[in-house]
Amino acid sequence: MTSRVALVTGGTRGIGHAIAVALRDQGCRVAAVYHGNDEAAQAFHAQTGIDVFRWDVGDCTACADGVARVTRALGPVDVLVNNAGIVRDAPLHKMTAEQWHAVIATNLDSMFAMCRPLIEGMRERRFGRIVNIGSINGQKGQYGQANYAAAKAGVVGFTKALALEGARYGITVNCVAPGYCETEMVTGVREDVLKAIIASIPVGRLGTPQDVARMVAFLVRDDADFITGATFSLNGGQYLV
Ligand code: NDP
Repeated sequence: MTSRVALVTGGTRGIGHAIAVALRDQGCRVAAVYHGNDEAAQAFHAQTGIDVFRWDVGDCTACADGVARVTRALGPVDVLVNNAGIVRDAPLHKMTAEQWHAVIATNLDSMFAMCRPLIEGMRERRFGRIVNIGSINGQKGQYGQANYAAAKAGVVGFTKALALEGARYGITVNCVAPGYCETEMVTGVREDVLKAIIASIPVGRLGTPQDVARMVAFLVRDDADFITGATFSLNGGQYLV
């Protein structure tokens, strides 16, 4: 396989960390983007040797600047994994506009903000692999997550539309929708809640970041060129679409 340049947003922690490492192990030159946790990013860099870049994926100008920086450092980006995401949970009657906008910006605006500066180059080079990380809760809804479920459902529609636009240009666009995985986003919840979550997963365990990373690594291969516009559920049987 050609050595591709891959950009993984939220690549310094959790699922993104595992994706960045899997793509590196598959021969890609990888850039991992993070937002504010310099300590985690430096630890990730020291551990993996993968280059880290700091910007806000919800900010279009920052994304255009950031993509230019990555291109100067590693070359044109062939593979984009839109993984960065946050939660700001509250039932709608208590949700603030700030909670709503933060989640929509990071989880959905980022799709446009990151793909826009990259898509023209991918079309010109007639190659691109884009994987967007959705969520089981964008597929089935979740109490307290109207913002998150809306953003993640939006990711699925975005994926399908961009897949149609990219199909004639060697660009595939897919969505991977994980169920509950062992990351800080999940292990931080109350112990009894975590137990109830695990009890509701037929395979009897949380997912791991590596479970998701293996799927992403497969989808970005050169020879995965017939797979586009799809959403892949990885949830241990918790929700069957
Ligand atoms: P983590 O909270 O473990 O890591 C989030 C990563 O995203 C960090 O690197 C963080 O940077 C980065 N990030 C957050 N906001 C921004 C931003 N505005 N700009 C740039 N980078 C940002 O998340 P997970 O690994 O748990 O989740 C990864 C993805 O998987 C998300 O899209 C999430 O919605 C999705 N998902 C997760 C599930 C789970 O069970 N964990 C289940 C289903 C979906 P920094 O370190 O600087 O904060």
